[in-house]
Amino acid sequence: MAQQDDNVLKKVISHAKEYGFIFPSSEIYDGLSAVYDYGQNGVELKNNIKEYWWRFMTQLHDNIVGVDAAIFMHPTTWKASGHVDAFNDPMVDNKDSKKRYRADVLVEDAIAKMEEKIEKEVEKAAKRFENFDRAMFVSTNPRVLEYQKKIDETNARLKAAMGSNDMPAMKQLIADLEIADPISGTKNWTDVRQFNLMFSTEMGSIAEEANKIYLRPETAQGIFVNFLNVQKTGRMKIPFGIAQIGKAFRNEIVARQFIFRMREFEQMEMQFFIRPGEEMKWYEYWKAKRMKWHQSLGLGEDNYRFHDHLNLAHYANAACDIQFNFPMGFKELEGIHSRTDFDLKNHEKYSGKKLQYFDPELNQSYIPFVVETSVGLDRLFLATLSKGYKEEKLGTGGEENERVVLSIPPALAPHKVAVLPLVRKDGLPEKAEKIVNDLKLDFRCYYEDKDTIGRRYRRMDAIGTPYCVTVDHQSLQDDTVTIRHRDTMQQERLSISAVKNVLAETCSMKSLLQKLV
Ligand code: ATP
Repeated sequence: MAQQDDNVLKKVISHAKEYGFIFPSSEIYDGLSAVYDYGQNGVELKNNIKEYWWRFMTQLHDNIVGVDAAIFMHPTTWKASGHVDAFNDPMVDNKDSKKRYRADVLVEDAIAKMEEKIEKEVEKAAKRFENFDRAMFVSTNPRVLEYQKKIDETNARLKAAMGSNDMPAMKQLIADLEIADPISGTKNWTDVRQFNLMFSTEMGSIAEEANKIYLRPETAQGIFVNFLNVQKTGRMKIPFGIAQIGKAFRNEIVARQFIFRMREFEQMEMQFFIRPGEEMKWYEYWKAKRMKWHQSLGLGEDNYRFHDHLNLAHYANAACDIQFNFPMGFKELEGIHSRTDFDLKNHEKYSGKKLQYFDPELNQSYIPFVVETSVGLDRLFLATLSKGYKEEKLGTGGEENERVVLSIPPALAPHKVAVLPLVRKDGLPEKAEKIVNDLKLDFRCYYEDKDTIGRRYRRMDAIGTPYCVTVDHQSLQDDTVTIRHRDTMQQERLSISAVKNVLAETCSMKSLLQKLV
């Protein structure tokens, strides 16, 4: 991670705490590793992200409905889904630093470094030659070809070792790539061991009779076990989807990087049930749809890219990530997986209940195939916060010469508008309160009458409030106010009755969703 970007993450973390977005869990006891609480502004931003996803998925697709399944599920669910046997990550410790790592991530990072080297060669050559042909260069340059060969070999070995659960082969791969611990700098590694990521607990009051149950590691299984309930009661016809937002729990081996990798987090998942054989068509369809959804947030189209999985999960026949350019670099934000009929078939096997759909057009019954879209709510939150965070020099001198502004999408902002009486007298607070009362049924408003107007603007900038409406003496005469735009800081005078329209056009969920219809 570049020093500068490391600083960005640190600044975002401290800003998130200072302004009531995110606090470490149970902080008075020094916190709990990789668990966080959302504060008064955080919960609003998070709820807005959820609403944006939920309404896009369910309201704008008439063949997708939602559920809210329990976190606890029958323990056989996790046997059938493969999680008891296969939801493992390979872990390895460095004997000198005593730090623990995911072995596959160490190898993937080494591959990423080789890819960076190729990019450097390309950049160098592009500067040297005028009509530079990238495709020609990468297919002929001996140094690039050598790197590419090593990348392909490494990918193949990683895939083989992970696929066959061969941990000694993983250890050998780390040794052959000469991977050193970034902390101790040594290559003194332990054996690689598999570690199951599910948290378990017991249900029942008498120890001997209690059943071991798991905290769900993904929300998807709550959808699969309800597949027929929803299909029958909703009279759903294939293709159709079931969406869900909820908590998931994973005992992550390495849980660093703030809310990027937590042990308790939230997922927004949708399982799309389709005819067998049509999975690649729908896989491509959902890849495009989901990318468009992300890009419509306006965090910068270049900050997203697809990354195909080489090392497929036990249930998938095709899978990719939508990666986002976080302060730590491009990392997974959302997964899109073609899950075949793996889950429903296994639930049928383990439960002994038929989980088939009768297709009236084909006049036959089958177990549907599934394409899943699964996005981490907390990662989306981090993406929004880290791209929105800006430090600006204003050049006006004194206290006002710099500001921190959260340029987050207006529809996601915790408050859409702050209504500020210029002074706390002469009837201005009453006028301002009247404006708030008129707006608050449609938009979340903030009222504040303490401090100088400049300080109040700064506080609103820091929590991402798109507009500040200032009530002054002229407002009492002609029912106008000034409205200040968060990003440009420009102010204009307009009539009080026009404020609602400005907010509706630029800050409402509808204004964001409109880009997608
Ligand atoms: P990773 O490779 O980063 O561990 P994954 O491939 O295991 O993620 P999935 O099982 O595909 O993740 O889960 C779907 C989404 O849930 C991910 O794209 C991510 O946004 C989110 N997610 C997964 N694990 C975590 C976590 N520990 N903390 C926060 N979000 C997570």
